[in-house]
Amino acid sequence: MNQLTPCPNFIGGEWLTPSGASTPVFNPSTGDVIAEAPAGGAAEVNAAVEAAQAAFPGWRETPPVERARVFFRYRQLIEANFDKLCATVSREHGKTLAESRGSIYRGLENVEYACGVPTLLFGDTLENLARNVDCETILQPLGVCAGITPFNFPAMVPLWMYPLAIACGNTFVLKPSEKVPLCAILLGQLLEQAGLPKGVFNIVHGGRACVDALLTHPKVKAVSFVGSTPIAKYIYETGTKHGKRVQANGGAKNYIVIMPDADIPKTVEALSTAAFGCAGERCMAGSTALTVGKAADRLLPDLIAAAKAIKVGRTDQPAPAAQPDMGPVITGQHRDRVLSLVASGEKEGAKIITDGRGVKVPDAPRGFYLGATIVDGVEANMTLAREEVFGPVLNVMRMDDLDHAIAQANASAFGNGAAIFTNSGGAAREFKHRVKAGMVGINVGVPATMAMFPFTGWDESFYGDLHIQGKEAVQFYTQQKVITSRWFGGDVGDVWKK
Ligand code: NAD
Repeated sequence: MNQLTPCPNFIGGEWLTPSGASTPVFNPSTGDVIAEAPAGGAAEVNAAVEAAQAAFPGWRETPPVERARVFFRYRQLIEANFDKLCATVSREHGKTLAESRGSIYRGLENVEYACGVPTLLFGDTLENLARNVDCETILQPLGVCAGITPFNFPAMVPLWMYPLAIACGNTFVLKPSEKVPLCAILLGQLLEQAGLPKGVFNIVHGGRACVDALLTHPKVKAVSFVGSTPIAKYIYETGTKHGKRVQANGGAKNYIVIMPDADIPKTVEALSTAAFGCAGERCMAGSTALTVGKAADRLLPDLIAAAKAIKVGRTDQPAPAAQPDMGPVITGQHRDRVLSLVASGEKEGAKIITDGRGVKVPDAPRGFYLGATIVDGVEANMTLAREEVFGPVLNVMRMDDLDHAIAQANASAFGNGAAIFTNSGGAAREFKHRVKAGMVGINVGVPATMAMFPFTGWDESFYGDLHIQGKEAVQFYTQQKVITSRWFGGDVGDVWKK
């Protein structure tokens, strides 16, 4: 039996491994259990929130430039430990090392953004609002904030949240996904090394009991959530009912329109990355191709060839040469769900034109693998067209014209991303203006935003008012105070004239 990787909580600056219930953490490449995530509940959450609350007054008073310095050091430490972080993400999640590297860079950009906190916290001023009366705004932290994160980006999504929240002067409790708790621990150790005072950042592992304790704790002021839509909705409703600010990112179904004039080689490259990158486990995955007119005939032969060439294999081995193009999905249960959605498409009349269901990885027969799969002739009423699949499956839906394609994309309950591939400025302009999605790509397959821009999901892809990342996130993690002032010279006289 493998030696299990320790999975402690981090509370008040102490690494503590609780006894009691736990859930298994898998290496999806092999199917082996590599750790046990403690199933925390109210007691652990209460200890972490109390530690964060106790650390808040000191951290709030720490000048923003000093807070930023912690994150400058943190940035260096993440770079110095980059390979270790990548290997951990690949081992617990199954991303290829290249994908893990990309995701940690995206996360690191959020640390870099947080380093700019002294200017991000600038307020506004107006002199002589009335005669001798001045007005200014200042941004102050909220107190204890919490983050609840999904399995699919073990480092990047937590990094969307706590660096900026903490740089703004808050303290933080992170509850990572119980499926991928190990990378968060490494990130916490590096933050400790960067010199963050004890209690400012805390980690509690667990599932629903842990989440409910955070959502109802009176000392938690704000909750950032990323995960599936039903849970995002639950988090928003429960958190706001308990008086908290909530930003809750949900699931998605992202459409990619291919016009007949699209550059086919570039589109094939972008589309196969959008659909099959990270084994399709991305909230910005381009999971449905809407081919307009004759675009399908031009696109599909090359797309099928590209999908068939994708080499599936284990991602938990260090040598870069041994890396496949695509790793496993997160669990056996998740693989079965994806398989049943593909089967439902077949049953409802769609045609599987590239079938990755029987893929074998001989050196890891118990890993959770699926090959790239393309399903053609998907119709709007099919389950496969409506539900988020979250696996390496691309639907193809054939559209008569751009109007039809936009109407299909806009009928989705979700609203995360949408993209168009075309050489026509007019078609691109029409699409970006009319499509109902918060992040739009023009000849860009995965228009996921970088740290300085908000991650703007719409409809059932987001519940809340202020999005994660960028200036909206600064607003989310701070409260504004408006100060109106007037000074009287009576007691001291007109000193400046003497
Ligand atoms: P999930 O909703 O199952 O879990 C997310 C978090 O919620 C985890 O920390 C989990 O412990 C907790 N949780 C799960 N069930 C709960 C319950 N009943 N009550 C309270 N808490 C609960 O999501 P996942 O499977 O880990 O992640 C995949 C989903 O996340 C996909 O739907 C994907 O689209 C979405 N996602 C969205 C974005 C975005 O920015 N919109 C980014 C990444 C992932």
